[in-house]
Amino acid sequence: MLLKITVLPGDGIGPEVTEQAVLVLHSVADAFGHRLQFQDKLIGGAALTTSNDPLPPDTLQACLASSAVLLGAVGSPVFDHNPGHLRPEAGLLRLRRELGVFANLRPAVFFPALEDCSPLRAEIVRGTDIMIVRELLGGVYFGQPRSIEGSPGSRVAINTMRYGEDEIERIARVAFDLAMKRKRKLLSVDKANVLECSRLWREVVTRVGKDYPEVKLGHQYVDSAATLLVQRPTEFDVVLTENMFGDILSDQAGGLVGSLGLLASASIGGPVGLYEPVHGSAPDIAGKGIANPLGAILSVAMMLRHTFHLEQEAACIENAVSSALSHGARTADIAGKTHTATSTPEMGGRVLEAVRTGAPASA
Ligand code: NAD
Repeated sequence: MLLKITVLPGDGIGPEVTEQAVLVLHSVADAFGHRLQFQDKLIGGAALTTSNDPLPPDTLQACLASSAVLLGAVGSPVFDHNPGHLRPEAGLLRLRRELGVFANLRPAVFFPALEDCSPLRAEIVRGTDIMIVRELLGGVYFGQPRSIEGSPGSRVAINTMRYGEDEIERIARVAFDLAMKRKRKLLSVDKANVLECSRLWREVVTRVGKDYPEVKLGHQYVDSAATLLVQRPTEFDVVLTENMFGDILSDQAGGLVGSLGLLASASIGGPVGLYEPVHGSAPDIAGKGIANPLGAILSVAMMLRHTFHLEQEAACIENAVSSALSHGARTADIAGKTHTATSTPEMGGRVLEAVRTGAPASA
């Protein structure tokens, strides 16, 4: 199979972690007999520096012409005082919209080797395997009107939460389809006791659920879901929610399993999938060679599964990550007091080694 991928390393630690993810992808492609076609393009601060545009036209064209996009991270303090449309993050928001990726999948999986990294007691977090399905292109992050009006001292800020039935239905179907492949359990999270958007959300999700009678559907208010997530994380499986609630809950779920550096994401629903680690550009550690590349590497596994439908290859990467961790490979963020921290390339190398030993049996 020919895998056409655009790589957008971006800013800060983005290039460091995507480099490792690409090396792992090469190794899996070799082992399973696939051909890779890569193009590197600029986004975010790196693109602003050269073209004053956080998403230059040739970057967008390359993304639209490929099957999948791997992104590192965007963001740099250099551009903190730029107007909104000239900030690195504007490039990423525009890319998501242009690719039409309305479904953001964020797994939070607990690795047994990392028991000492979770802020929760091992007996509570052990076995956690949550898939958060977050609506990515609607809700209060995009709704109009939005503004800050009036004169200083008496200004009013306005944001609008807006959802159409079609937007709710399409994300609900993604979540139900995923639930069918997992434990057939779906929790829809809303705030239907207060928000009209949530009442419509609950009604539409319930209606879509009638097409999936095998899936056990539950509903929960977001505040109570946040509490349960830290009390009984193992009870969650697929969680479906709107944009802002999903943004917050998925970071919380990520926090439970150890480090932001471990978390992968897939944004799908349009013709081209976008895969990126959940973390940002981490300016505080950029250039030091200590960033955890596992979020980026696991994002590549999600790419193989969700865009290319290469389940064995995806599992090969996930098993390799698990194996590297259980053999003691640790970047600084997950080293704790008992392990010596490895560098970013060393961690990538440990995963590569595990791919090479694990792949032949499965290929
Ligand atoms: P961040 O995720 O960059 O960093 C938060 C903390 O986690 C930092 O202490 C950082 O060192 C650590 N960290 C993050 N990734 C790590 C990794 N792979 N390995 C080890 N440690 C890691 O979030 P922030 O500091 O709030 O934001 C920094 C910049 O990134 C900002 O400009 C922000 O807008 C941007 N950002 C971009 C994305 C994205 O590209 N998708 C997401 C979030 C933030």
